[in-house]
Amino acid sequence: MTGKTRRMGRVTAVRRVVQCALIVLFCLPLVAAGWGLLGGFSGGDAAVATPAEGVFYGSLASSSVGGVTLLDPLAALQVAASSRDLAPALMVGALPVLVAYGLVRGRAFCGWVCPVNLLGEATDWLRRRLGIEVRERAVPRHAKLGVAAAVVALSALVGVPVFETFNPVGAVNRGLLFGALAGAWTLVAVLVCDLLWSRRVWCRALCPMGGLYEALGRAGQVNVAIDHDACVQCDRCKAVCLADPVILEPALSGEDVIVRAGDCLVCGACVDACPADALRFRLGRPRKPASAPAACAPDPAAAPPPGPAAS
Ligand code: SF4
Ligand code: SF4
Repeated sequence: MTGKTRRMGRVTAVRRVVQCALIVLFCLPLVAAGWGLLGGFSGGDAAVATPAEGVFYGSLASSSVGGVTLLDPLAALQVAASSRDLAPALMVGALPVLVAYGLVRGRAFCGWVCPVNLLGEATDWLRRRLGIEVRERAVPRHAKLGVAAAVVALSALVGVPVFETFNPVGAVNRGLLFGALAGAWTLVAVLVCDLLWSRRVWCRALCPMGGLYEALGRAGQVNVAIDHDACVQCDRCKAVCLADPVILEPALSGEDVIVRAGDCLVCGACVDACPADALRFRLGRPRKPASAPAACAPDPAAAPPPGPAAS
């Protein structure tokens, strides 16, 4: 195995560790409490400690870190809309999350944190292994912006935070923590659609959380940058893109120096796949060049794109 081959997949490996570590982090306080590791059980004489009294406790919708409450911004917006009350506590809980993802990259949540995306990546891998052919893009990727706006508007209309009643992220949380299957049907539907209908259709085009984070994504300071001189136009990056291959086109054509679309998950699959080291993460958001540097000519010696590859 060459050094270059060993380097391939490094970002994805780190990302897998982070994704799994976060799942463990969200499960641990309740599991530890169940075993009595965080304090006494009810029923004894000792004061009862609850997980909520620990350093960290919660779910992806609502958590407490060192006593500071953090809320999923889309859930907070739905609750505010459904209750017709812009409760300051809600906004204070959602603001740090919005600012953090806004600064980094909105959809870094999808690529590095969301357990549904992790399951979606596993489904994508399974689909390739089974040789199931599906459409690359059955639904336009920006549809999720409309879905996000729709769930907030509908929440205001019916007085219930509608997406939270069937949010598959919540279903994963409840399943992991309590073994609860309520809401699991949405998760199953998402994975079946990914497997049999269109590649990663939920995360790419339908998830309203992805829609909100896409809207934030255009301000993010962590970006994939391209070295046009190094690129050999082999399109391997497009074949593995978790968001949508089209988001790489402005960079590949020489129009831009970074992947600018708010859709980018900064997952690094393209960085890992590039055989020419032409893609790297960079901090900062350079302006789009006024005059586009010329994209290099395809290298006839470059290997053809391998088709959707394991991420
Ligand atoms: S452009 Fe690269 S980093 Fe962004 S979503 Fe696609 S593969 Fe991931
Ligand atoms: S994988 Fe690398 S060399 Fe191939 S098209 Fe993408 S950026 Fe260019």
